[in-house]
Amino acid sequence: MHTIGNFIAGSFSPAHGGRTINDYNPATEAILATIPRSQGEDVERAVNAAHSAQDEWSKLTLEQRAHWLDKIADALEHKSEQIANTESRDTGKPIALARRVDAARSVSNFRFFAEFGRQQTQQTFQMEDALNVVHRSPVGTVGLITPWNLPLYLLTWKVAPALLMGNTIVAKPSEVTPLTAHLLAETLLELELPKGVFNLVHGLGPEVGQAILEHPGIKAISFTGGTETGRIVARTAAPMFKKLSLELGGKNATVVFADADMEKAVEGAVRAAFTNSGQVCLCGSRIFIEEEIVEQFTRRFVEKVDAIRVGNPMDEETEMGTVISPEHLLKIESYIDLAQKEGGVILTGGTREMTGYNGPDGTGAFLRPTVVGNLPHTSRCATEEIFGPMVTLHTFSTEQDALEMVNASEYGLAGSVWTSDIERGQRFSTQIDSGIVWVNTWLHRDLRTPFGGVKNSGVGREGGQWSLDFFSELTNICIKDSDEN
Ligand code: NDP
Repeated sequence: MHTIGNFIAGSFSPAHGGRTINDYNPATEAILATIPRSQGEDVERAVNAAHSAQDEWSKLTLEQRAHWLDKIADALEHKSEQIANTESRDTGKPIALARRVDAARSVSNFRFFAEFGRQQTQQTFQMEDALNVVHRSPVGTVGLITPWNLPLYLLTWKVAPALLMGNTIVAKPSEVTPLTAHLLAETLLELELPKGVFNLVHGLGPEVGQAILEHPGIKAISFTGGTETGRIVARTAAPMFKKLSLELGGKNATVVFADADMEKAVEGAVRAAFTNSGQVCLCGSRIFIEEEIVEQFTRRFVEKVDAIRVGNPMDEETEMGTVISPEHLLKIESYIDLAQKEGGVILTGGTREMTGYNGPDGTGAFLRPTVVGNLPHTSRCATEEIFGPMVTLHTFSTEQDALEMVNASEYGLAGSVWTSDIERGQRFSTQIDSGIVWVNTWLHRDLRTPFGGVKNSGVGREGGQWSLDFFSELTNICIKDSDEN
């Protein structure tokens, strides 16, 4: 176990008042670290540090900042194994997944934005008698608030474009998974990033997160997390006219047409349902199956789910680790109970997994991947975000029928459609209320594309140009030709 400090003005320090919170391994329930339980005073110090660094950082050229991003990517790449190991212990996810997804993407977030930044050209609009030049300036000090499911992946997805565009940062990771954010801070210290450019304050959402939202010196908030927290973020920050990016919850649909390649559709639907124990905002937790293939698909889907190896997250062969915490396990189990009360049938799973790795008294937040049939698409289990390894299956008879069921959700983040008729795939996708739709694949990402949700899944887009726009202010400079006065 070690003690972690806030990273403010280039050095580590405890919280004002010295209070701490324990950080646990959800597989063993051992304490991994103690972190500062920060308050408004800590945010105040972090904002002051960021403001002091703003001028120097924003005066660097885009190329110089892109070079910084490359240096950070290289340094993180050297630590890939440490990142994967740390993320696996902190979240309970399989080491192989942490390597393939979390560690790899944290590096590529920096590399991508460095390269993307270099490709930017100044936008101009020529008039007959004048030239308009679009000038980008940094927003200033920005607040970044991130969740526990993909801790370093989602934090770096915001840090990289924010730094590139010349902003300084006050970041707060989830208090449940603070370790890789700390590792990033250590890396930036080793690289001698100018003091105060990146500041990290640990603690509880309603305390330190709220203080970030309320601070008048923070000009933009980029938030990823649950929809209910998103409402608090919007309520607090919008009246202060802060720029806001809200990436929120989802209840994503997987739609399987009868003409789909069965093997690929089953494989894709299982991956979409249970990657990271179903704790990816893009996970497909409602599966809609065309009636002709419902029996065959369900049988093969359940067989494949049964074969998922749940176990010790540090074991190379493990395919599914724990959920994030014992409290979250109880929440998911309450939905399993509810499913049965609502008339659902548990087709597989629904029970805790005894892996031989559990902590004392059989603790450890392991749950079998759970598939529920026979529930209406309007039931609570099929409409509320559970964010765990639990999916519901539904049958449809026509394309229109499927569309109505898919869109009967208050969320609109992502979805996948499985069909061999690409024209139908494309037509159907444009009619789904959703920010992202995959046809015959899932979680296939090009970082240049817009990422974000509609309805209760969020406001704004991240990715490529959209991230650069969020983290900059645009000024149009209109220059009249001198001989036309
Ligand atoms: P939460 O909304 O609970 O927390 C997200 C972050 O907000 C955490 O750092 C949390 O701190 C902080 N927070 C909580 N309360 C406040 C507050 N009053 N003011 C400011 N910050 C606050 O989400 P989870 O961490 O539980 O993450 C899971 C959710 O995230 C799911 O709904 C999932 O769908 C969504 N998500 C969305 C993604 C997207 O791109 N759309 C991607 C990934 C996840 P603390 O942890 O200390 O409470």
